[in-house]
Formats: sequence, structure tokens, C-alpha cells
Amino acid sequence: MYDVAIIGAGPAGASAGLFTAKAGKKTILFDNGKSITAKAWVENHYGVDAIEGPKLLEQGQKQAEKFGAEIVKGDVVSIKESGELYIVETSEGRYEASHVIFATGMSVKAAEAFGLDVVEGTEPRVAKIIKTDEHGRTSSPKMWAAGTVAGVSVHTIVTSGDGARVAINVNSELDGKRYVDHDILGK
Ligand SMILES: Cc1cc2nc3c(=O)[nH]c(=O)nc-3n(C[C@H](O)[C@H](O)[C@H](O)COP(=O)(O)OP(=O)(O)OC[C@H]3O[C@@H](n4cnc5c(N)ncnc54)[C@H](O)[C@@H]3O)c2cc1C
Repeated sequence: MYDVAIIGAGPAGASAGLFTAKAGKKTILFDNGKSITAKAWVENHYGVDAIEGPKLLEQGQKQAEKFGAEIVKGDVVSIKESGELYIVETSEGRYEASHVIFATGMSVKAAEAFGLDVVEGTEPRVAKIIKTDEHGRTSSPKMWAAGTVAGVSVHTIVTSGDGARVAINVNSELDGKRYVDHDILGK
């Protein structure tokens, strides 16, 4: 059983996974290899001079794995409710999780198939997004959305930041108090 299952391991999903795993939450990510970031050449990500999209994806996923997140390559084909838990199904197997974060980029397919509320997108070329509140909560309890699929501006610094923001909200809900992650230089 996982504390957090994240669908999509692009900048939003991997950044969310980094924050939940580093907080000690048992975290699993699913990715079917269709990130739009794979086509990008990025020169506007704060703190990074310039980076190829595929390299940014690789580094972000490795960083999440460093803190214990597991990444499963494959397509999430369905999500079902089972009491207090969600069951995420891929072609490889079934995984139970307490919280689910959608970080599926341009795709609302998995969210629509589950029955989440979906609305028109407002960013260029983003047709549909998952409806969320200001915390990243969707229309279903313990289901969240982050990044492009949650309607934020389609830039890596924003989508990765949004993944972190939503993960901090998930960590806070799991802990029952506001979560903060600050490491101190020299310790
Ligand atoms: C050509 C191009 C150039 C760009 N250049 C820049 C730039 O210079 N600077 C900049 O800031 N941004 C740039 N961007 C935008 C940037 O890539 C995005 O803003 C951002 O990376 C999107 O992050 P995301 O995590 O929301 O989505 P994505 O990176 O698309 O990640 C979503 C992930 O979810 C996975 N997924 C979806 N559904 C499922 C499912 N059912 N099961 C399993 N996995 C699933 C996908 O495979 C994908 O890996 C560019 C984009 C393009 C296309």
C-alpha cells in the first residue's frame, strides 16, 4: 500500500514525488513516456543555465528515486475506489494508494475515465484541465492535480513548482499539520 500514487512523472509529477518521498511518504509514480517536455530546449528554468527536456526529465525522476520514490513505466488504464483507498491499474499490475495526484500534462483521459470534474483549459493549446480548488484538490476526496493538467502556465519552472506545492499540501494532510522541508547548510 502506498501513501501517494502519482500519475505522470514529468516536471509536475516527479517534483511532487520528490517532495512526498523525501517526507517519508511511500510514493509510486506511473509514466507512459509521452511528456511534452521531451521536445523542449529549456533556457528559462531558474537556477539552470540551459537544459534539454529529456535531461531535465531524467534528472527530476532520478532525484525522486533518490528519496525512495518508485517509478513504474507504463500506462495507467484505470483507477477505482476501494473503501478509503484507490486502486491504480496498469498493464503491469494493481497498486493501492491512499492519495492520488494527477500530473498527466496535456491528457485528462485517466481523470475523465475515473469521473473527475473536467473543465475547459485557459492556457494556449491546453483543451481541457482537471477542476481543482486553490489547494490542488479535485472533485474526489484525496485526489489532487498538479501542473499542466491542473491549468497552470505551461513552463517547467511553474509546473514543477506546482507539483511541489500540491505535494506539500498532501504531506500536510497526511501529517495533520503544515509541512515544511528545509535542510540546513553544513549539517
Ligand atoms: C516543443 C516544446 C518546447 C518547450 N519549451 C519550453 C521552454 O523552453 N521552457 C519552458 O519552461 N517550458 C517549455 N515547454 C513546456 C514544458 O515542457 C511544460 O510546461 C512542462 O514541462 C509540462 O510539465 P507537466 O509535468 O505538467 O507535463 P508533462 O511533462 O507532459 O508530463 C506529463 C506526464 O504524464 C504522463 N501521463 C499522462 N497520462 C498518463 C497515463 N494515463 N499513464 C501514465 N502516464 C501518463 C505522460 O507520459 C507525461 O510523461 C515546451 C514544450 C514543448 C512541447
